[in-house]
Amino acid sequence: MRIGVFGGMFDPPHLGHLILAELACEQLELDSIVFIPTGTHPLKNDSLHSSPAHRLQMTKLAIERNSKFILSDREIATSETSYTVNTLEAIAKENPDSQLFLLLGIDNIAIFDQWHRTDRILELSTIAVYDRPSDKPVNILEILSSKLVRLKTPLIEISSTIIRERVKNHLSIKYFTPDVVREYILEHQLYAG
Ligand code: ATP
Repeated sequence: MRIGVFGGMFDPPHLGHLILAELACEQLELDSIVFIPTGTHPLKNDSLHSSPAHRLQMTKLAIERNSKFILSDREIATSETSYTVNTLEAIAKENPDSQLFLLLGIDNIAIFDQWHRTDRILELSTIAVYDRPSDKPVNILEILSSKLVRLKTPLIEISSTIIRERVKNHLSIKYFTPDVVREYILEHQLYAG
């Protein structure tokens, strides 16, 4: 089995995430891709974010029509800080004969050396990198060069931040995210400020 691992706050999930995951499945010939909403983020202040329960539910709704997309609550279910290495370790243990592909935006590659136990991450997975809109070129770190595949993906300038701001400013988010997620956001009055 070839499994993609896609972590994020998903606050909310949007079409940028879904298109990327679809193309990763295609290009890496994945059998499945696991969406893992982040629990306690080691590098981001998450006090401003929606509750884990909302993020989990929105992610569930966003991916429910794709049988290759799987939701994991493993990071949200623990109160411990979410380190990618621990998540990969657990997935590898549960799927002993699988090859894992960790999906990372090029923006994360630039700070990869700040992550916890990068050596072990590289033992457990192949890093699949995709482009993100950025004005500065990113040097691929030497430690990564041998364990990295590049995905060919269009730059889609939708972000969760844009969606949150649009909702706050009473602007439409139609087509930014699947209808079911948009309806959930409105029903639960998320991001209304
Ligand atoms: P925020 O705006 O709150 O920072 P975000 O839209 O970047 O959020 P995250 O949940 O932080 O979303 O993203 C999870 C992963 O999805 C990240 O690795 C990020 O690089 C990637 N991602 C986010 N938006 C896009 C997009 N439009 N196209 C491709 N990848 C994306």
